[in-house]
Amino acid sequence: MKNTYKTKAREVIIAYLESHNDKRFTAREIFEAVSKEEAAIDRTTVYRNLDRLYEGGELLKFKEPNQDAWFYQYSKEHEHCNKHMHGQCSVCGKIFHLDKDFVNEFSEKLLNEYGLDMDPSKTVIIGTCSDCRHIRKK
Ligand SMILES: [Zn+2]
Ligand SMILES: [Zn+2]
Repeated sequence: MKNTYKTKAREVIIAYLESHNDKRFTAREIFEAVSKEEAAIDRTTVYRNLDRLYEGGELLKFKEPNQDAWFYQYSKEHEHCNKHMHGQCSVCGKIFHLDKDFVNEFSEKLLNEYGLDMDPSKTVIIGTCSDCRHIRKK
């Protein structure tokens, strides 16, 4: 029985995030949304599942510009988000999946030249996206 309950929680969380995959949520927001659908799911279960999904590369976890909270976002086409770096716009918060080859070459160079074995799941390059650069110029 306990196992079914756990699987259920995971399913409800994924279903929710998948249907809002253009948005990012704090763990608290996810818990509140999910508990409306499944009253039996407790906060700890939600938080634990979020961490597990993040470790499995199914969710992105990042900090939003100027906010001191972690945000989660579902990554449909990017099921290996723990294996590549991400870029983030410091104005609108948009996330870029830096999964091109030259980025991997860059991390190899870091290791060879500096001895730094970068952890891609924790590395976010901050910048300004093209949309926000255009707005700024106006
Ligand atoms: Zn990614
Ligand atoms: Zn932007």
